[in-house]
Amino acid sequence: MVDEAAWKALSTELDQQSVTLVAVSKLKPKEDIARLYELGQRDFGENYVQELIDKQAALPEDIRWHFIGHLQSNKVKYLAPFVHLIHAVDSYKLLLEIDKQAAKNRRVINVLLQLYIATEESKFGMDEDELNECLKQYKANETSFSHIRICGLMGMASFSEDQDKVREEFRKLRQTFDKLKEDHFPTDPEFSICSMGMSGDYRIAVEEGSTMVRAGSMLFGSR
Ligand SMILES: *Cc1c(COP(=O)(O)O)cnc(C)c1O
Repeated sequence: MVDEAAWKALSTELDQQSVTLVAVSKLKPKEDIARLYELGQRDFGENYVQELIDKQAALPEDIRWHFIGHLQSNKVKYLAPFVHLIHAVDSYKLLLEIDKQAAKNRRVINVLLQLYIATEESKFGMDEDELNECLKQYKANETSFSHIRICGLMGMASFSEDQDKVREEFRKLRQTFDKLKEDHFPTDPEFSICSMGMSGDYRIAVEEGSTMVRAGSMLFGSR
């Protein structure tokens, strides 16, 4: 069940702060997505490739689909025809594959690099050294990347009751974003997205400089 009141409140709150709301609809039926679409929501996030393909085919063309899950290189080709933003790029190899598949589809695909900010073993993403190495390789070969647009960073905080810890992790992500912008994308207006915050921690994320919140359960109910 969609919580329409929660969507209205959240989208208004985020709008006022110029933060984009991505409604995370993974494992939820198409009808729920259609309902929020009717209310005006256009950005939706999904974690699983096959599920996203099925939903994209059945729902309105002008939905901006965000792929927020861990993406394997061999699955990029299925998303390349339509995906709006891939949030969790965690290797140079994946960047290469996205560029290749985007070229085949004569598109430019927007991506975020995922920085690992949590202290939990289970989360994906690059640490700071890996991120710098990935960007160095990208910059060295930038002219061959004509079908990819690096728009910023994404991260997930620890699943923790400790708000100070969560805040510190978001702060680190935002600081890294600012530093990368200064070092590598100083004149690039496209490098502008810091994707952080979910249902349980979005307020802290926004306070720490998030520009894009990915919220699922508070809109669609628990999974
Ligand atoms: C599922 C998921 C979300 C949404 O989480 P909620 O707690 O349901 O808001 C956000 N980001 C990522 C990467 C996810 O996998």
